[in-house]
Amino acid sequence: MPRWLPALVALGLAGCAAKPAVETVPPPRTYAHGIGGATFLIGGAFPPGRSPDGNSLILYGPEGAFVIDTGRHSEHLTAIRQGLSGIGMSPVAIVNTHWHLDHVSGNPALKAAFPDIKVYGTSAIDGALTGFLAKSAESSRKALADGAVPASALADVEGDLATIGRGAELRPDIIVDESRDMTIAGRPLSLRVARNAVTERDLWIYDAAEKRAIVGDLVTVPVPFLDTACPEGWLKALDGVAASGAEQVVPGHGPIMPIADFAIWHRAFSDFIACARGTSALEGCSTGWLTGAAKWIAGDTARAKAMADYYGELVRSGKLDGYCTA
Ligand SMILES: [Zn+2]
Repeated sequence: MPRWLPALVALGLAGCAAKPAVETVPPPRTYAHGIGGATFLIGGAFPPGRSPDGNSLILYGPEGAFVIDTGRHSEHLTAIRQGLSGIGMSPVAIVNTHWHLDHVSGNPALKAAFPDIKVYGTSAIDGALTGFLAKSAESSRKALADGAVPASALADVEGDLATIGRGAELRPDIIVDESRDMTIAGRPLSLRVARNAVTERDLWIYDAAEKRAIVGDLVTVPVPFLDTACPEGWLKALDGVAASGAEQVVPGHGPIMPIADFAIWHRAFSDFIACARGTSALEGCSTGWLTGAAKWIAGDTARAKAMADYYGELVRSGKLDGYCTA
């Protein structure tokens, strides 16, 4: 990988330095559809050489609609807006699962279009804006100045820099730093906060009426995005999801999982972390992941392998340990 890449990974460019894929990488996901329980899913895309969008959801209740996570790219935002106009309701809230740019970048445009929107999220973005994101922006600017950004990634890198430049506008209006039950748009939900997992504080949502857990990047494919993670805190958060009573899990990236599939993913993740924390060759950790999570990686194994190699090394090196003490 080029030297600038690791700093950009949380901006979503992991694996973009992988050799041109000889396999057929799945096309951008377009599974915007009703999933039952007054809930719609807008699947986030992750095309080769580009940065991903996280999955978004639109839920509605007696008092309006709300959006969970707002993606990164304008195409994704357009899909959210089409979904909102499709149900003919104005959004009254955004719930952000975490501050990664593939989940919050659409906040300012949606708030501008619908001024009544209140954003719910944790305060972890404050530390990210002065820490991780500030450093990433610095690396990106240097890479641009050095001509080190591949042409295919230029628009994404510039877009992320613009978003970080407006970082204060990404912050929540209503801070949820502890787990609590809430009513949003007249709809009762349980907001759960996981400490030191994917980020310093992640928010996931348990919709008891639907037995559905909407977990953000606590579950992702083709690999777990460990850039700002404490692996052990993440494992603990997954135990919480498993114990929630959910029969269905909506990941931050990838298709909806029945709870039996979540258990398969959970095991593959747990094995990957145990391997990367151990002393055996890291190569075996990556191939173990490809086998354990095979059902979500078909056609994308070259990229998944490159990313698993990268994240395995990140865990093994101890570079993530600081995220466990934040
Ligand atoms: Zn994400």
